[in-house]
Amino acid sequence: MATAKACVLVEPNRLETWDVPIFDPEPGGALVRVIAGGVCGSDVHITSGEAGVMPFPIILGHEGVGRVEKLGAGVSTDYAGEPVRVGDLVYWAPIALCHRCHSCTVLEETPCENSQFFEHAEKPNWGSYADFAWLPNGLAFFRVPDHADVNAVLALGCALPTVLRGFDRCGPVRVGETVVVQGAGPVGLAAVLVAAQMGASQIVAIDVHASRLEAARALGATATVSLKDSAEERRRQVYDICGPHGPNMVVEAAGVLQAFPEGVNLTGIHGRYVILGLWGAIGEQPVSPRDMTTKNLTVAGASFPKPKHYHGALHLAVRCQDKVPLGALVTHRFGIADAARALDATAAGQVIKAVIDPEIS
Ligand SMILES: [Zn+2]
Ligand SMILES: [Zn+2]
Repeated sequence: MATAKACVLVEPNRLETWDVPIFDPEPGGALVRVIAGGVCGSDVHITSGEAGVMPFPIILGHEGVGRVEKLGAGVSTDYAGEPVRVGDLVYWAPIALCHRCHSCTVLEETPCENSQFFEHAEKPNWGSYADFAWLPNGLAFFRVPDHADVNAVLALGCALPTVLRGFDRCGPVRVGETVVVQGAGPVGLAAVLVAAQMGASQIVAIDVHASRLEAARALGATATVSLKDSAEERRRQVYDICGPHGPNMVVEAAGVLQAFPEGVNLTGIHGRYVILGLWGAIGEQPVSPRDMTTKNLTVAGASFPKPKHYHGALHLAVRCQDKVPLGALVTHRFGIADAARALDATAAGQVIKAVIDPEIS
């Protein structure tokens, strides 16, 4: 059987490059040659073991763009009804839905109770740190428009679908609203981009890295605040910019626990606070419940974007690719064998977005 390269997490903190079999697609599925797989902050937590026990050994990577190599029996369109052929580029949502569980059918919510995030590395596999991804039946993929800049599509990875999911849960940004974004990694940058496209009047990004704040400005942030200032000083700056009633919406995209009480404190009266980044931050933080009642706050967590959010993210990225320097957010590319370096650089905040490019050896 033909084989190809894949980056395999054998156990926590042990990455190896394996030759794995290339499988034909199943009916309803597709086999794609990976053009690039996005390196996500979640991959760092999965590799370190903080994200819990995985069915090791697994192929890492849940963000990708690939070229259709073979289509499974019965497949002539993508999951939005667009015709798709061998050779087309596709972008996929990383979790196959079963459409026959309580979450899928009664709640119409993700995650699906029967979804499988990873598969054993030697079995048909949709991990994207690999030469090929085998997309099972039920895993939504969408044709990438011909004029798309692949880097623009990959730049915000699963962050952009996550932000669209969060705004679905917490109410969209309305024209003229003021928005504060805690953290300017991919999730925060995606929030800035969406808020700007929705017509927010002020978008304030908070981060410690000057390069990230600069990227936030390029995507539409109207002001930036440095984490190097004290919490009190940060609040003063936010209220100076957003006005005495405070921001209408605060988006947590920092991924550190201390961001949570600060976010509750920053959110303005009748405001919304959406928590997106604390997925890997295990622990507790004291907050003032009185703040939430007296300010009439709406607080919502959001995770596990639905296929529609991936579809929306793809098309939003393509629409914005010439208006803002989205593609330039992909600052680093690594080969499959160098995935450990890519993860280290992502963990250290040295990159805005890294991708695994199978063409690099
Ligand atoms: Zn289901
Ligand atoms: Zn991701």
